[in-house]
Amino acid sequence: MSKAIYPGSFDPVTVGHLHIAERACRLFDQVIIAVADQNYKNSLFDLEERKAFIADAVAHLPNCSIDVYSALTVDFAKKHGANAIIRGLRAISDYEYEMQIATINKYLDDSIETVFLLSGPEYSFISSSMIKQVGRTGAKITGLVTPMVEEAIKNRLFGTSESSF
Ligand code: ADP
Repeated sequence: MSKAIYPGSFDPVTVGHLHIAERACRLFDQVIIAVADQNYKNSLFDLEERKAFIADAVAHLPNCSIDVYSALTVDFAKKHGANAIIRGLRAISDYEYEMQIATINKYLDDSIETVFLLSGPEYSFISSSMIKQVGRTGAKITGLVTPMVEEAIKNRLFGTSESSF
């Protein structure tokens, strides 16, 4: 059975991430979305929230599951019997960073391949950080994230109540 992991911080998951996950699920028997455990200084959503958004977004993908990782990506892959790491490439600006990660992962474990999927042109401008920046202005983000994420961003940035994810 072919198995891949798709690691990232997903703060929050976007339709760009989802497009990559859907395509990975067609290439591999099983795909595990690996959500980075750490809460970054400027993270908008905590781990449980980020996981809940992904679970909602991938509910239609029967061969997709979600897990959390905190240490080395290659160790997480090995632990789950996956021999591929999925990463998305939007533009040449992603390349340098992604190449560094892929190269160090190859050095750490030669048996695990990084598989790059090119972003669909309609998704290539979408990033979690751009969603947060635009969301902070109150401008429209409909269609760039799932309705659940859109609602949560509005609540987090402009609502009075804490979200309940
Ligand atoms: P990280 O925090 O590891 O940089 P992200 O959570 O931002 O990761 O994204 C995880 C992966 O998804 C990365 O490989 C990133 O390049 C890719 N990705 C993010 N947004 C898109 C998009 N719109 N289209 C294709 N790939 C994307």
